[in-house]
Amino acid sequence: MRWSGQQLDSEQQGALPGLARLHDLVRTVRTPEFAGIAFHEVLAKSALNHVPAAAALPFGWTINPYRGCSHACVFCFARRTHEYLDLDAGRDFDEQIIVKVNVAEVLQKELARPSWQRHPVALGTNTDPYQRAEGRYRLMPGIIAALAASGTPLSILSKGTLLRRDLPLLQAAAERVPVDLAMSIAVFDPELQKSIEPGAPSTEARLATIAAARDAGFAPSVFVMPVLPWLTDSREHLDRAFGRIAEAGAGSVVYSALHLRPGAREWYFAWLEREHPDLVGRYRELYAGSDYAPKEYRTWLAAKVRPLLRKHGVDRAPTEPTTGAIRSRALRGAPATLAGGRPGADSDRMLAAELGAAAADALQPTLF
Ligand code: SF4
Repeated sequence: MRWSGQQLDSEQQGALPGLARLHDLVRTVRTPEFAGIAFHEVLAKSALNHVPAAAALPFGWTINPYRGCSHACVFCFARRTHEYLDLDAGRDFDEQIIVKVNVAEVLQKELARPSWQRHPVALGTNTDPYQRAEGRYRLMPGIIAALAASGTPLSILSKGTLLRRDLPLLQAAAERVPVDLAMSIAVFDPELQKSIEPGAPSTEARLATIAAARDAGFAPSVFVMPVLPWLTDSREHLDRAFGRIAEAGAGSVVYSALHLRPGAREWYFAWLEREHPDLVGRYRELYAGSDYAPKEYRTWLAAKVRPLLRKHGVDRAPTEPTTGAIRSRALRGAPATLAGGRPGADSDRMLAAELGAAAADALQPTLF
């Protein structure tokens, strides 16, 4: 398998109780290049997660090659998912990363089932598929290739500039299936960005990734999420944000105010106490009744944002009326035209290389 030949600087055998319950733990790895981070390599039993209809999200299936995220955003709403692994939603979420080393192989098998209906699949809905670990484990090329070869539309949301590595493969995939790309970029103040997203690439690097995706023929969206009350919701900050996004060539934006689910809430308030103690009282009041900012705040924010979007000529991405989440082209299952043209030999070779010859041969008769 692709991960078995990796050279490790150090490794440690042993199982965490929660991991042992949920997965087959292969090993725990710590290396000097990722100081302070432990990678728990597991054998996943499944790759595709079905999203319950009750969640009212605009996608029915997701893949999360990693759990936990070294981008370490203080406000990350996925933090609590780490508690199911007997890890905590704070520091452990940032530093104890679960790696599904066999995810691409498992995915290929799932996609080959006659029952798979090629519903669109979303990546980056829970943790970031292009977080730093991806540079080491290289799981995404196999996932992208498998989805494209099976005729399954896909969307990717990330803060990781490593996405650029896979643009040629994504172009090849887009010749076969709808592919939507989006970057999450919410903070246009370098000092604040480093403080609140300490492990994520800089805003400038993410804008450059948007420009690269546009140059590769995509129409990437930017998620300006979350807008942080009293920190990034000034007219001046939003003006700068939408101006830079427009310059980078994004096709559309989505924005929403911060929400603070349990797990993220405690971690965010601890950060606020340290970095902006003057705001703690106001935040407690704003988020007293709900995890979401009150309707009055959201209405106030919308009134501020609308003219700025117009000013910079940035479209607001179509969103689901029920959830406010982006309704992507890939998720609607529209025909693939992003990279233009008919399936070609170059893209076949690229996909086949990522899938491995045997799998590609098995899929080729019907899917290429
Ligand atoms: S990049 Fe996304 S998944 Fe990772 S910590 Fe930040 S918000 Fe969470």
